[in-house]
Amino acid sequence: MYYKIRQDVLFRQYDEYGLITDNSEYGYRMINDTRRLRGEKYVSKSGAVMLAALDRNPKNIDDIVDELVHIFVGVDLETLKKDTVEFLQYFVDEGFLCIGENEDSCQNYENKKLNENDNSENTTIAFNSDDCEKSIFKTNEFLRSIHIEIANACNERCVHCYIPHKYKTNVIDSDLFYRIIEEGRQMNIIHVTLSGGEPLLHKDIVEFLIKCRKLDLSVNVLSNLTLLTDEIVDEMKQNPLLSVQTSIYAMNPDVHDEITKLQGSLEKTICGLKN
Ligand code: SF4
Repeated sequence: MYYKIRQDVLFRQYDEYGLITDNSEYGYRMINDTRRLRGEKYVSKSGAVMLAALDRNPKNIDDIVDELVHIFVGVDLETLKKDTVEFLQYFVDEGFLCIGENEDSCQNYENKKLNENDNSENTTIAFNSDDCEKSIFKTNEFLRSIHIEIANACNERCVHCYIPHKYKTNVIDSDLFYRIIEEGRQMNIIHVTLSGGEPLLHKDIVEFLIKCRKLDLSVNVLSNLTLLTDEIVDEMKQNPLLSVQTSIYAMNPDVHDEITKLQGSLEKTICGLKN
């Protein structure tokens, strides 16, 4: 049997526990959206070790157990395999992992739709009771998310903007961005928001998005979308945990453009949204 972590799921291993999440708390949801949210689950230290043996490519259960047997002591191979299969199956059923008899079927499991209207709790703890009693686990004690203003420069001049127009001049130094994002990842962050000003004005925006994807981060881009290019869209599509937020102030171009002070901005933003 093969297992892998789903493309739209993130796993982090901390000192005393692990967290697996669909990161849905960083997105907006329509009221009639009945898709099941997997939410997030906390696992014990040993559970985290088991999940850490997986990645986004299918892995055979024997290879997984071969790794685990060097970590867990005092347990025979067969028992470890049985426990691991049972543990991983729980996360398959909960929609976090893919399973298959071979690599292809495991990969194709990615397309399997999650059950709709499932009422299970979005945040649960797959801990043993000892861990809970010891209170080693506090869901908000670690840094989850960072927000980086990568440009205070902007091509619009919105009347309500929080950046005074005279300061809309700079973009972040690329080396500083990479340093922040790498240090954040070492601290096990899950999510990064890229905002501005207008973040798409930064000459390295595509490389920034690639870096976030390679560091296994979910990303939210706050943009007016007027500067969206095919190259940016192509990279955005690569990250299943990327979302974009934009603002439309009215469907009447005279009203919207009067707020942004950029003629033609509504048309460009709608074009960006469609892209
Ligand atoms: S698009 Fe955003 S950053 Fe640019 S002027 Fe408008 S509110 Fe300010």
